[in-house]
Amino acid sequence: MMVHGLKREGAFNMDIDIIELSERKARFVLSGVSKAFANGLRRDILAGVPVLAIDDVNIYDNTSVLYDEQLALRLGLIPLKADTSTYNMPEDCSCGGEGCASCQVSLTLSAEGPRLVTSVELISTDPDVSPADDTIPIVELKDTHKVVLEAIARLGTGSKHAKWQAGIASGYKKMPVITIGECDLCEKCVEACPRNILKVKSNNLNIVNVIDCSMCNLCVEACEMDSIKVAESPDSFVMAFETTGAMTAAHIAVEAVNNIKKKAGQLGEILDTL
Ligand SMILES: [Zn+2]
Repeated sequence: MMVHGLKREGAFNMDIDIIELSERKARFVLSGVSKAFANGLRRDILAGVPVLAIDDVNIYDNTSVLYDEQLALRLGLIPLKADTSTYNMPEDCSCGGEGCASCQVSLTLSAEGPRLVTSVELISTDPDVSPADDTIPIVELKDTHKVVLEAIARLGTGSKHAKWQAGIASGYKKMPVITIGECDLCEKCVEACPRNILKVKSNNLNIVNVIDCSMCNLCVEACEMDSIKVAESPDSFVMAFETTGAMTAAHIAVEAVNNIKKKAGQLGEILDTL
C-alpha cells in the first residue's frame, strides 16, 4: 500500500507492507519514513487515538467488599467498543464539556449476590457501545451483597489517562539488512543463528524472514570468510502493536496517521504565519 507522506516541501512516499493484521494485533514494515515519523506513529497509537472509557460513576448502592473508589477504578479500565466518530471530545462539544448525548454515554449495572459480576452486565443506553470483552470480572458478590450504579463514559486519549489507551505494546525496530558475499556453504552461520534466518537451499545461502533478525551478529562472528554483513535500514522500520479491543488494529493505525497529518498541517499553518 502506498501512502503519501508528510513533508512540508516535496511529499515523500511511504510504503506499508503488512505482515500480520488481525482485529487486535498488527505487524507491518514501514518504509520511506524517518525515525521521527516512526516514533511519532508509535506514540500516537499509544496515546493519541480517542476511545471511550468510564470517567464518572454514580453509585446508588454498594454493599460489596470493594470500596466505591475501587469499584470505579475497575469500571474505568474496562475497554469499551464504540463508533467513536459519533461522539465529540468533551472539550470540543457544543455543551462546553458539561455533558450531553453527543459527548457521553451512560451504562448501568444492577446486580445482587451471590455471584461474580462481569462486564457483560453493563447495560449501555447506546446499542453501539459495549464492553470489548464480556468476561472481565468487576466484583464478586457474596450473599446479600448488592451493587447498583450508573457509569458515564467519555472520549479521551491515552496521553491523559491509561484507561483511554486504544493501542498497547506499541513498538518498532529498524529493519535489518543482511548481505551475503562469497560463500563456501560451510553452514556455520546457519547453526549460529538462533532465529533460523539463514538456510542453505539449492547450493545457495538464503535469507528467510529477515524481519525476525535480532541483529545479534552471531552469524557474522561464525563466518570464517567474513562474508556476512548485518546492518540497519535508515528508513525502514518493523512496527507492531496490539489493541485493547476498543477498536480494530487497522482503525487505530489509520486514526494515528490522520492525527499526525492533522498536527503536521497545524504546524505548517503556524510556520506560514511567521
Ligand atoms: Zn456535550
